[in-house]
Amino acid sequence: MPTDTSQRSTLNAQRSPKVIFGPISSRRFGKSLGVDLSPGKKQCNFDCLYCELDPVKTMGAYDEVVPVTEITAALKQALKEHGDIDFITLTANGEPTLYPYLSELVDEINTFKGRTKTLILSNASTINDPKVQEALLKLDEVKLSLDCATQVCLKKLDRAHSGIDVEEIKAGMLAFKKKYKGPLVIEILIVKTLNDSEEEIAKLNAFLLKLQPARIDIGTIDRPPAFNVKPVSYEKLLQISHLFDPSLPVYIASRKKADISASSYSVEEILETLSKRPLTEEDIEALFDEESQKRFKDLLKEEKIKLVESNGVKFYKKA
Ligand code: SF4
Repeated sequence: MPTDTSQRSTLNAQRSPKVIFGPISSRRFGKSLGVDLSPGKKQCNFDCLYCELDPVKTMGAYDEVVPVTEITAALKQALKEHGDIDFITLTANGEPTLYPYLSELVDEINTFKGRTKTLILSNASTINDPKVQEALLKLDEVKLSLDCATQVCLKKLDRAHSGIDVEEIKAGMLAFKKKYKGPLVIEILIVKTLNDSEEEIAKLNAFLLKLQPARIDIGTIDRPPAFNVKPVSYEKLLQISHLFDPSLPVYIASRKKADISASSYSVEEILETLSKRPLTEEDIEALFDEESQKRFKDLLKEEKIKLVESNGVKFYKKA
């Protein structure tokens, strides 16, 4: 999981070696500080075709490790500077769960974080490891990637380090979910021709129905990738979202929304669309033209549409 380079530009140069970045603000997480567990170089056990970091040889363990004391000192300093942080996000130039002292680090953070919440963004490759599960159980929120439900796809798209098996990832997710009290969010990044087939989505759907995560974010390539792979359109993401079981809280998390032009939807079409897939306010703004948005608001007043909240994201669905 690469750290967001646009977020990193706000890095305070005074701080200890680029371990902390942000804060950045988002609707979903409020004000969040990023912690980069591999600030010196990319250290990852995946070599995803869509990665925005330069490709490097995959590795099973970090060979460059920042001491826990250095990370916590930098984090304490940053928290002092910004008194109102909502989330501390553990991430890396690479995969944060490969950080060998993750459990100790989380224990330390939990001693001083107060009411600030903790979150990790992981590629899920190590989720079947009991030590990783032990560390993640102590976090307030966990977001795991799952681009593929099959080994063929994982090898092609995420180009995992040898020995990583998608069935073990899935088994690890199920075992973790049973024990975890916080929200487990799944992120799927869709890449044209690589994991956008109906077959692959059907397999992801079958697994996610078993897993029952708090939310499923589907997105596509938003930033220039390391290899020549292509994003899918917002319309395609919407189509893919309809392939998932309607009971699953699928959220289209893509900046591509801004690129599409809004269309006219009749009352029947609005209700039909919302019966297939709940939509967020952002989806509605992107898809519906002005007149259709008025129709939508009327339907909401008439209670033919209802608002539901799933792990911090508001969805509209047919009542
Ligand atoms: S998991 Fe994939 S996207 Fe994330 S840092 Fe590793 S190679 Fe890049």
